[in-house]
Amino acid sequence: MTSCDFAIVGGGVIGLAIADAILAVAPDAKVVVLDKETELAAHASGRNSGVIHSGFYYAPDSLKAQLTRRGNVLLHEFCAERAIPVRNCGKVVVATDATQLAALDALHARAQLNDVPTELVSEDELRRLEPLARTVDRALWSPTTSVASPAGVVTALADRVRERGGEVRLGSAATGGGPGLLALGRDRLQAKHVINAAGLQADRVARWFDMCDDYVMLPFVGLYWYANWSPGRLQRHVYPVPDSRNPFLGVHATVTVEGRVKIGPTAIPALWRESYGGGHGFSPQDTADILRAYPDFLRSKDHDVVGLFASEFPKLSRRVMVAHARALIPTIDQKDFREKGRPGVRAQLFHVPTRRLEMDFVVRGDKESTHILNAVSPGWTSSLAVAEYVVADMKSRRAL
Ligand SMILES: Cc1cc2nc3c(=O)[nH]c(=O)nc-3n(C[C@H](O)[C@H](O)[C@H](O)COP(=O)(O)OP(=O)(O)OC[C@H]3O[C@@H](n4cnc5c(N)ncnc54)[C@H](O)[C@@H]3O)c2cc1C
Repeated sequence: MTSCDFAIVGGGVIGLAIADAILAVAPDAKVVVLDKETELAAHASGRNSGVIHSGFYYAPDSLKAQLTRRGNVLLHEFCAERAIPVRNCGKVVVATDATQLAALDALHARAQLNDVPTELVSEDELRRLEPLARTVDRALWSPTTSVASPAGVVTALADRVRERGGEVRLGSAATGGGPGLLALGRDRLQAKHVINAAGLQADRVARWFDMCDDYVMLPFVGLYWYANWSPGRLQRHVYPVPDSRNPFLGVHATVTVEGRVKIGPTAIPALWRESYGGGHGFSPQDTADILRAYPDFLRSKDHDVVGLFASEFPKLSRRVMVAHARALIPTIDQKDFREKGRPGVRAQLFHVPTRRLEMDFVVRGDKESTHILNAVSPGWTSSLAVAEYVVADMKSRRAL
């Protein structure tokens, strides 16, 4: 049995950022990051759009609003420090019909409340910003949204954790535990404090500590298609106005840091957590838990679940996905989108007592353990700010 001061379950962007932040304030601490996979960025942290969000979508009193605005600044600084390329492309949100204009204006108002720079631009101004995009009457321009390589950031963060004296142990799954102790198969790790940043498995790990009896994981799969366009043809990310009843942004077109174009992601309900295609990662336990939660989800008054099903399942078809993207960029042609992107699964929690999908990040903890739950989008953007927040929260609990 080995021992440490802080054991972090999950070496995705959140777990690594927390390890990094602890070592910044406690350089002599023994910090061990455990990840069950043998390579970094195997789950959401390496399977996302790589969009560095600015933070205008979220309710002003939410952690997401606070930590995305700050995370955007910190992630740009980190990329500059580590020479990670960033494409400062900005993003436009377009209206596909006049009924969406009130929601577009509401996004602009929310951006002002969140202290995030955005501008409402006319159709002509939109054409100058992004000649391929179309809108009805006006669009929202976000100059501080950008893009970088998701896996590039994770690798660089793992490097900085190691440089600061932390250990990143790959191929090491926590199989059980409780205050002060983690089981790693037949091995044991004693830890003064356990931090749970296990992404899609975070609710499960939190249950070992009695910290999560009110949530069920409802995973949603994000599929992508790449265009065969030459780099630079699309200059800005182009997004639709989102349906505020659901925590998803709708199919959009993003520019990668290399200048390629991809459309997606979907939010297709999945029957197990790590459902990346075929039977990959199938878990009968996941399926049983999810099926048990669905009757409550279907009865939710806060979400249009039937509408979500009706709009998401057809996106399994490339033709339908392309049609959604064409509503934003009329010149998009199905024959140009033949290369599948790596799918990602959102670690979306459903709050059973209120029958609501959790919209915000959730941090819970006591003296022995800390749990980062519902680390959904834009958790990659926010990661360094989430880590700052968690360190302050741990200090307030005298756990650090
Ligand atoms: C389709 C999609 C698109 C997205 N787009 C964006 C975007 O453009 N911008 C943005 O900011 N965010 C985006 N996000 C959100 C972002 O990817 C996540 O918020 C972020 O990656 C969460 O990081 P994490 O470290 O919590 O999770 P993960 O990356 O899932 O890391 C958790 C880690 O825990 C490990 N683990 C789990 N259980 C155990 C165990 N028992 N023992 C040891 N290890 C364990 C896993 O192997 C995994 O590596 C997107 C997400 C998805 C799915």
